[in-house]
Amino acid sequence: MDLDLNLTVGPGGCVDCRHCGAQVGTSTAAPLDKAVRTQRPPSEAGPGMHADPARFTDRPIVLRQVFCPNCLVLLHTEIVPADEPCYRQWSLR
Ligand SMILES: [Zn+2]
Repeated sequence: MDLDLNLTVGPGGCVDCRHCGAQVGTSTAAPLDKAVRTQRPPSEAGPGMHADPARFTDRPIVLRQVFCPNCLVLLHTEIVPADEPCYRQWSLR
């Protein structure tokens, strides 16, 4: 079963990269637990993110990105307050 353009559920229930076949998650309950993660300043998202987040909030803001552990295809991006957990809405049922 394909989850999106990048992820599929393999025969054993693991979540695999559709580009290289690497296992990205051990189950649909933890679909990205083997992924590579980075956390950087939001300005590194590109030229569209030029405003300093401190002008709008007292909370520190971060850019989080998740990649396939083998081919490094980008799987997920979020710009969120640093004190909030990753993937607040990301779950499979
Ligand atoms: Zn991959």
